[in-house]
Order: sequence, then C-alpha cells, then structure tokens
Amino acid sequence: MGLLDGIVFEDNCLVCGKPCITHDIQVCEICYKKLRIRKLKFDFKKGNRKYKKYLPNSILYVSKYNEVSSMLIKSFKYRGVVKSGIFIASLMAESLPEMIDHYTLTYIPYDYFKKFNRVYNHSALLCSYISSLTGIDVEKDIIRKKLSLLSQARLPFFVRRNRPLMFKPGNTPKSDTILIIDDVVTTGRTFIDAAYVIKKQNPKMKVHCLAFAGR
Ligand SMILES: [Zn+2]
Repeated sequence: MGLLDGIVFEDNCLVCGKPCITHDIQVCEICYKKLRIRKLKFDFKKGNRKYKKYLPNSILYVSKYNEVSSMLIKSFKYRGVVKSGIFIASLMAESLPEMIDHYTLTYIPYDYFKKFNRVYNHSALLCSYISSLTGIDVEKDIIRKKLSLLSQARLPFFVRRNRPLMFKPGNTPKSDTILIIDDVVTTGRTFIDAAYVIKKQNPKMKVHCLAFAGR
C-alpha cells in the first residue's frame, strides 16, 4: 500500500505561496484559474504522413504550457518536489480520456537524465501516482530508450529531420489499449515515436497519450 501515504499537504500554493483554494487543490485561486484544466486535443497529424497507421489514437493534455504549469513541472522534475508531482498527477487523473476499452498506463523512458545525476524518471513517477489515485494498472518496460551516441541538437537540420526513432520496443503489453503518460507535449515527437514502436510490434493495439501541459 501507499505510494501516497504519509504525504502531508500544505495550505500554501505550490506556485506562489498564497493560501490554497482547498486542501485538495494545492494552488491558490489565481494560479488555478491560469491552469484552466480541461481536455485539450493535441493536433499531431500534420506532416506525419509516413507514420500513418502507427500514429497515436489520441494525444490529450490538460493545461496550456504557461508560467503556472511550467513552474509546477519544473518544481517536480528538476527540484524533486513530490507534492507538485502528485498535484500534477491528480489533475491528469481527473482528465483521463474516456475509452470504451479497459486500458493500462505506461510511461516514457528517460534514462538520459542519468547524466545529470537524476535518479528518477519523472514520467514513470507521474504514471505511478496516477495509478495510485485511480487504481489503473501500470505496465512497465513497454518502451525502451535507444542508445544514442549523437546529440540530436548538434546535428544539422536536414539530418535531424530524418532522425532515427528514439525508442525500441520492450515487453509486449498485456492490455490491448495503453495510455502513455508524460509531463509535456511540445512537438508530439516523443509520443509519436513511442506509439510507433508499440504499434509496429503489436499492430492491433490502441495507443493513447496524456500529458499535463501542451503548446
Ligand atoms: Zn498561486
């Protein structure tokens, strides 16, 4: 039991320090209004024709990337503030996509953080918080990070456009519908690559994606 046991919530906003709305909402009224939590569809279909049948079935995010959502993400991801992670997970859990099928959760592998001495994977942690809050199972090691010797950012643009996939397939999922969890969706590339390796390996699978913030 109890990934979330023993966590004591405070009365001050995780972002600005003003009083929280309630004990369940860990930000003040102003910050909460800025988050404007709702289900937003990420439009990933433009320019991705070659992926076609391997594209995610949907990509949703719950808040626009702005000063409040980015502060929450940074506090969790780079400063390791667990309460920020749990709050993000609770907002995501309330906005899970409505699917007819039973589904399981999985996460993006982020082992490259090792080089900055980060010992945890924030996507995996968000996934386990959402699982604790909702009871939905997590499937581990479905997507594996490919070993990359080159920094994509340092490659010339024409090479980057044809850049190889970031991931390789891992374990076969037990469920036939899976929801991939991550903190931010920017270009959609991470989700698209992750869905690609899962669907290529398991053609009948449905792959949905959920991020906290998007732009
Ligand atoms: Zn605030």
